[in-house]
Amino acid sequence: MSALFQNYARRPVHLVSGKGTIVTDETGKQYLDFTSGIAVLSLGHAHPAIVQAIQQQSEKLWHTSNLFESPEQEKLAANLVKDTHLAHAFFCNSGAEANEAAIKLARKHTGKHVIITFEKSFHGRTFGAMSATGQDKVRQGFGPLLDTFRTIPFNDIEALDAAIDSDVAAIMLEVIQGEGGVNQVTPAFAQAIADICESKGILLIIDEVQTGIARTGTRYAYEQTVLKPDIITLAKGLGGGFPIGAMLGTSALYDTFSPGTHGTTFGGNPLAVAVAQTVLDNVFDTKFLSAVNEKSEYLLGKLKTALPTHKIVGTGLLLGVVCEEEVAPYIEKAEQAGLLLVSAGPNVLRLLPPLTVTTEEIDQAVDLLSSILI
Ligand code: PLP
Repeated sequence: MSALFQNYARRPVHLVSGKGTIVTDETGKQYLDFTSGIAVLSLGHAHPAIVQAIQQQSEKLWHTSNLFESPEQEKLAANLVKDTHLAHAFFCNSGAEANEAAIKLARKHTGKHVIITFEKSFHGRTFGAMSATGQDKVRQGFGPLLDTFRTIPFNDIEALDAAIDSDVAAIMLEVIQGEGGVNQVTPAFAQAIADICESKGILLIIDEVQTGIARTGTRYAYEQTVLKPDIITLAKGLGGGFPIGAMLGTSALYDTFSPGTHGTTFGGNPLAVAVAQTVLDNVFDTKFLSAVNEKSEYLLGKLKTALPTHKIVGTGLLLGVVCEEEVAPYIEKAEQAGLLLVSAGPNVLRLLPPLTVTTEEIDQAVDLLSSILI
């Protein structure tokens, strides 16, 4: 019997080191890591800039809580909102926590309690975020859930219209549902959401936990849509492997959180902030973003040629190969062949390489994938 609770279906591989896209297990076997720790390792494993940032910060100051002022948090917040319509940040430790903050902020600001979310969405495992998540497998056994959330079909304008009433505080969505199957918001649905939010004064929360921080080829995925969120949530890629989450909001929301209304001991911890700042210094650079888009096109082209009968979905370096059958056996075969993958729903193989992946690594990964799928 394990000393751990059995809430994860762990693969029988013990990874002990990593560099860039390559990870090595305890037997010395190497793998191409196309999971990036589930969209986390923006700069790959052991990037020298991140190693240096954490080493330097660890010699200066590890932790203060939020009892004291933090110019480092101020700088990180300013960089996150720079050249956007957003204005302020709150730092926490994970995606679920960022979403909890967003739910609280939206409810407190509007004085209303209903938040519309979507089927197949994923927002995290804490009670609020789980209740917001539109997947039964995530919620089963934990009811009754919070009645704050009204979950409707994704990309369904009629269902959206029917769900709106005077109790609605916010609409909360992922512009690409990462866990739910790499499902993209359609332009028509995005327009319908933008129109409803504008005409009814409903807040828009975009969960960018998986799509944000350059994963889709722009700083945030919403930038590729007509949507102008009041709040976005971040985690995963922001820390490049060090736990940090963030909620960003517009200036109209500034006064809603006053001292004591929300907080967390570790949020914006100096180590996390030093690492996140280093991630941003790299990935928000225009040349880096162009490179992500070039690699995405290269990977897409390769996949389409190698797997002509499969549908390829997604944007940037958040791509999915849609299969008719369940993908779990393919993930096992890929792993044996030296390629680490993760699923998105039962039928989609998700490709999430580090944003620093090379074209040679893409070639190798696609060769391995096609040998498994064809
Ligand atoms: N939101 C989205 C879109 C996610 O993909 C995830 C995690 O997969 C979360 C929220 C939850 O993030 P965390 O696991 O850091 O709590």
